[in-house]
Amino acid sequence: MSKIARRKFIQLSAVAAAGAFATTGREALAADMPQLSEDDPMAKAMKYTHDASSVDPASRNNPAAEQNCANCALIQGADGEAWRPCQIFPGKAVAAAGWCSVWAPKA
Ligand code: SF4
Repeated sequence: MSKIARRKFIQLSAVAAAGAFATTGREALAADMPQLSEDDPMAKAMKYTHDASSVDPASRNNPAAEQNCANCALIQGADGEAWRPCQIFPGKAVAAAGWCSVWAPKA
């Protein structure tokens, strides 16, 4: 490996290591997020609830039968977690069993 190639490799390794650290930091932060309250004004505007089964399917815009945060395209975090980050509510965790009117099917 030439000196220039080695230097480039070291630089890219440092960037990759920094990225891995930043990702770990974000995930740890997500686990510590406060839970979204159903009384939050934004949550109310989006008709968010912690319990998707409490929503009348006939009231939904999207006709997909089973809708909850866990099967929404906008959910983040790891499958199986009860509370997860959502792209619609930054800085708050939503219930995996929850639902809001922005629900969209995963591709
Ligand atoms: Fe749940 Fe999806 Fe609404 Fe986020 S956008 S609260 S994941 S239904």
